Amino acid sequence: MSALSRKTDSDTIVACATPPGRGGVGVIRVSGTRAKDIAIALTGKLPEPRYATLSDFAGKQDVIDSGIALWFPGPASFTGEDVFELQGHGGPVVIDLLIERIVSLGARIAEPGEFSQRAFLNDKIDLTQAEAIIDLIDADSKVAAVAAQRSLQGAFSAAVFNLNTLLTELRVHVEAAIDFPDEDIDFLDDEALKARVAKVSSAFTEIERAAREGRLLSEGVTAVLAGKPNAGKSSLLNALAGYEAAIVTDVPGTTRDLVKEHITIDGVPLHVIDTAGLRETDDQVEKEGVRRTKDQLQKADVALLVIDASEDDIDVSLSSEIPEAVPVITVLNKVDKVSLAPSVENSTVVRLSAKTGDGLDLLRQLILDTVGYAPQESGSITARRRHLAHLEVARKAFENGKLQLDSGAGELMADELLQAQNALAEITGEFTSDDLLGEIFSNFCIGK
Ligand code: GDP
Repeated sequence: MSALSRKTDSDTIVACATPPGRGGVGVIRVSGTRAKDIAIALTGKLPEPRYATLSDFAGKQDVIDSGIALWFPGPASFTGEDVFELQGHGGPVVIDLLIERIVSLGARIAEPGEFSQRAFLNDKIDLTQAEAIIDLIDADSKVAAVAAQRSLQGAFSAAVFNLNTLLTELRVHVEAAIDFPDEDIDFLDDEALKARVAKVSSAFTEIERAAREGRLLSEGVTAVLAGKPNAGKSSLLNALAGYEAAIVTDVPGTTRDLVKEHITIDGVPLHVIDTAGLRETDDQVEKEGVRRTKDQLQKADVALLVIDASEDDIDVSLSSEIPEAVPVITVLNKVDKVSLAPSVENSTVVRLSAKTGDGLDLLRQLILDTVGYAPQESGSITARRRHLAHLEVARKAFENGKLQLDSGAGELMADELLQAQNALAEITGEFTSDDLLGEIFSNFCIGK
């Protein structure tokens, strides 16, 4: 079912909102026009709005369970529709019985994210807030959770809204200048207009910074370990993870498949991927490993090129295998074995020992610096790649507009500014395609 066909969907939906399995409490959520009848059928009468009401939950013949019933008449509910919530005992069978009963009363099982999608379609939240719900649930660190909560409360949307307002003001200014071409003063060349352009420019810079950092917090930093076999990549992965995640041997070519570890640095999730190394080989399995290494490098936020510092011949030629767009940190490993670590030119270098742990903190900090993580006092938000892509389109249109302004083409500038605003509207979901909505909400969990 496509996202938009759900929009006109008047079905009443039901799902268990708590994780499957056994637990103290299980929460079932019902949303839609039949929620009222379902509430009455189960609890005998409609609970007082927004008050916790102790109640039996009636089956067709027997009582299925008892617990707390909550009634949120629309539009003052999460979805904007009538919502009925049951908090019963958290056992899989009892929950199934209740859901079966509710389905027999005219509801259907909700699709993943359908409650949030209805909240979005009913203007209770915008798209960045909907995405922040998942960021909060999926948060890998406290820092990421706090940032997601800020996005959920609308901090990111507010920044987009603010930028949009500045763009509108600038456009109005430009359009006014076009409408009064005979005035003595050249409006397109006045100081006030230049000040507005500068203001928009710095608002762009700030929101781009915040979104980049927010993307790192929600999606994490992907660091790929590359280097020759036996340089110490697996040892470094283990040292960063703090336990034996990968097999370490002195036989070159042992790591043939990818080993992934998820850790955090200062609250930033870091996905470290250990690879098969990069070398010419005739071994078919290792060959495939090398291919996967190159594949991972394409998607990396940062590549850690691990080199054995104790080798006589320091060979950094492998760095040419790393895609140009990916920043590289050269890790000179095994410094415990040498008195003087060699120097490597034209590269960000860290000297460390995966064995003793010396230099690891430096590497952690360097990773954050390299990917541009520098949290501000004002607090972080969470963001996604798609937000960054829309911001890039908006920024490009704005920059084009500036060029038009410089050449005195006010109308063309106004056009570009409008394009920029349209791109921003895609972030918050004012203009968003069906397919994208479907994709976003299908990644939610059931019952959310
Ligand atoms: P990989 O093939 O690049 O993953 O390398 P491994 O992590 O398997 O390490 C290869 C060998 O080097 C193993 O015998 C490790 O114990 C050793 N090794 C790794 N890091 C260090 C280090 O910092 N110092 C010393 N002395 N030996 C290390």
